[in-house]
Amino acid sequence: MRWKYSCPHCYGHLNPDDTVVLVAEHAGKRILMGLHPEPGVYSLYSPDDFPIREGSRWLLRCPLCHVDLRSDVSEDLAHLDLRSGDVVHRVYFSRIAGERATFVINAEGLMKDYGIHTDHYLENLVHRSFR
Ligand SMILES: [Zn+2]
Repeated sequence: MRWKYSCPHCYGHLNPDDTVVLVAEHAGKRILMGLHPEPGVYSLYSPDDFPIREGSRWLLRCPLCHVDLRSDVSEDLAHLDLRSGDVVHRVYFSRIAGERATFVINAEGLMKDYGIHTDHYLENLVHRSFR
């Protein structure tokens, strides 16, 4: 497997297959949401194609420990750990449906950003590092 995601709180592995599985809550609904593992690919999977309205903001939780995955970088970004080879990165991504903003941070700082909606987050992320 090329990308291996885990919860930053309990370290549980969140993509046993390729798809990253999270608990997602919005407007009184709670579903399992599947995310494409490749940063910058914005395919979402929901049970029975449960409608995910563009612009809706989802509370994302780890399915194992139920921690709220919101980051301290921005209220609108969630975060996960991503192991690729022997290196662990931190990935920040928008929890607003349809918003394309993903950031990969390593020990040196911002490694790469993806998506067309990154501008208003970049300022908070350029000085971040993760180890
Ligand atoms: Zn967890």
